[in-house]
Amino acid sequence: MKRKYTINERYKHIVDWFVENRGHQTTELKYASDFELLMAVILSAQCTDKRVNTVTPKLFERYPDVRSMASADYGDVFKLIQSVSYPNSKARYLVDSARTIVQCFGGRIPERVEELQQLPGVGRKTANVIASVVFGQPRMPVDTHIFRVARRIGLSDGNTPLKVEIELTSHIPTEYIADAHHWLLLHGRYVCKARTPLCTECGIAEWCQYFGETSSKTAE
Ligand code: SF4
Repeated sequence: MKRKYTINERYKHIVDWFVENRGHQTTELKYASDFELLMAVILSAQCTDKRVNTVTPKLFERYPDVRSMASADYGDVFKLIQSVSYPNSKARYLVDSARTIVQCFGGRIPERVEELQQLPGVGRKTANVIASVVFGQPRMPVDTHIFRVARRIGLSDGNTPLKVEIELTSHIPTEYIADAHHWLLLHGRYVCKARTPLCTECGIAEWCQYFGETSSKTAE
């Protein structure tokens, strides 16, 4: 019979596994400055990182910093990003965010999540990514992959991204929260896929609630 794990045991084993087998991981978005990361993360909403990485080199060549983006024309930005999802709205978000940074934050990207959320196109998830990756804060941006994976594994039963975020950050040791964001996101993207999770190839199956339930049903 399969052993059942408490929530604390599950967290401990899974964090230990990722520390040992994945170590430090970071975003797959390509960027060379805080400004570029902010633009790339705004573009990545409901779009793949790979697709975003195909448009950003030309975008950043044309608009290399926050001030050049703040004085950009929406239509010109649209032409450079039209292959990503929702290019019309995102062209406005990029330009309007840059304008807000210049007008309200002296041209510097703000550090606090509440301030970041004042930028057009920046919700809590995007603000958490910037706070974590740029400013090294222990933040857990919960996207669709992390929401699914955390609930499947049994790390959270929260029914909103905010509840999952709170549960993950309260259980994962602070020093690993930034890495854990990338561990869970990449695990969801490449292993614990939405339609067909690759459980037989998964290193954390032993402690996974979904795997424990489905394998014991199969054994019955
Ligand atoms: S065992 Fe399966 S469901 Fe559980 S984390 Fe791994 S891939 Fe996902």
